[in-house]
Amino acid sequence: MFAKACSHTDHPDGLLKQIKICNSMYYMQFPLKRDDGSIEVIQAWRAEHSHHKHPVKGGIRYAENVNEDEVAALASLMTYKCAIVNVPFGGGKGGIKINRNNYSDSELERITRRYTYELLKKNFIGPGVDVPAPDYGTSSREMAWILDTYNSMTDDILSSEACVTGKPVRQGGVRGRNEATGRGVAYGIVEACCSAEDMKKLGLERGVDGKRVVVQGLGNVGYHAALYLAEEGATLTGIAEYEGAIYSEKGLDLQAVVDHRRNTGSILGFPGATDIPRSSDALLLECDILIPAALEGQITRDNAPHIKAKIIGEAANGPVTADADAILLEMGVMIIPDVYLNAGGVTVSYFEWLKNLSHVRFGRMSKRFEQSSNERIIKAIVDATGITLPPEQISMLSRGADELDLVNSGLEETMITAYKEIREVAKEHNTDLRTAAFINAIDKVAVYYNDMGIFP
Ligand code: GLU
Repeated sequence: MFAKACSHTDHPDGLLKQIKICNSMYYMQFPLKRDDGSIEVIQAWRAEHSHHKHPVKGGIRYAENVNEDEVAALASLMTYKCAIVNVPFGGGKGGIKINRNNYSDSELERITRRYTYELLKKNFIGPGVDVPAPDYGTSSREMAWILDTYNSMTDDILSSEACVTGKPVRQGGVRGRNEATGRGVAYGIVEACCSAEDMKKLGLERGVDGKRVVVQGLGNVGYHAALYLAEEGATLTGIAEYEGAIYSEKGLDLQAVVDHRRNTGSILGFPGATDIPRSSDALLLECDILIPAALEGQITRDNAPHIKAKIIGEAANGPVTADADAILLEMGVMIIPDVYLNAGGVTVSYFEWLKNLSHVRFGRMSKRFEQSSNERIIKAIVDATGITLPPEQISMLSRGADELDLVNSGLEETMITAYKEIREVAKEHNTDLRTAAFINAIDKVAVYYNDMGIFP
């Protein structure tokens, strides 16, 4: 995918090679004393793909299939992702080769703290160096352990909170980070559906209203993407999880499905829906928008020809293989690529990092001022026109923006601007959105080297 985009640029080969390679990789192995007293060796990695900007940024995943190549590839995706959404970071990624379900909470804590210690020892973590975040298998709890370990090992008093993002709000996290990736997916899809011209090519109406959506994976990203798309008027017709999938042409109530799964342990058997025992069959359902929000490699050359969706929104990282990508483009499917679409997480991580360095909650300085200016404007209108407004309406109209409002608005602005940039590049080069996104990213990273005159 990178090579395809390179052919649309005129950067020298050496520069493209420098942009492509992973700058540094730290592979570590350390012992874990398990709760039963036995010793196990844990394998872990941290990749820093590109230092064209500092810090490098990217999540840490806990998964059994983590390996060096995957961590390096995901780190490179972070470089391009940050460039596309104009987040001024290089790309990084970490991975620990464990199935988190096989470890107790205290074992997970020991693994996370030891991993942080190893990173610190080799200067692979720090507010201006490398800033981890949650990814597959990790959450705000692991980030709180990372911060605490970092704090206990350094005297970086002023900026230490910015050494990791995706933290709990009470530990310096920012409101809206947890749902940011899913919300960003929804903003990106809404923006893509805004173009009547693009929708016409797919035989669809403009807008997401009434579009049938199938989501694979009800984790943090899939759940929030589905939630916000439903709020925008889309109909959630299919949901896939490990245990199987469910389908209803009339639409599924997301919260009711989540409650049903909590009560019964499965999404199957949801009242009014049809069960699909083999989860992967849900990818082949008749729908307008398919959102793979689980792991990579879900749509391959084998199932791609049978996909019926008109739009694929890649909420997960790498859900469509390169072979499948070519087949789907040939079939006229619009793919909104991961490297753009799931960048909402790192975008709000950037806001969290800014908050930590500035030591002030977004909206703290402006909220009351905005509110009183709005009240003055409303009063002037009321005085001039004689219209009377109920007090609830006045307080709704005059409310100043708080942290969550500002984070969501910054995220929406970021996703919309980035989509417009990619669409422009796609038109200019007469290419698909993924290739356009990579061209856009490569050009932005190349600026760093070109401006130094290294590659004139
Ligand atoms: N793990 C997320 C991603 O792959 C978030 C990274 C971050 O916030 O730094 O984009």
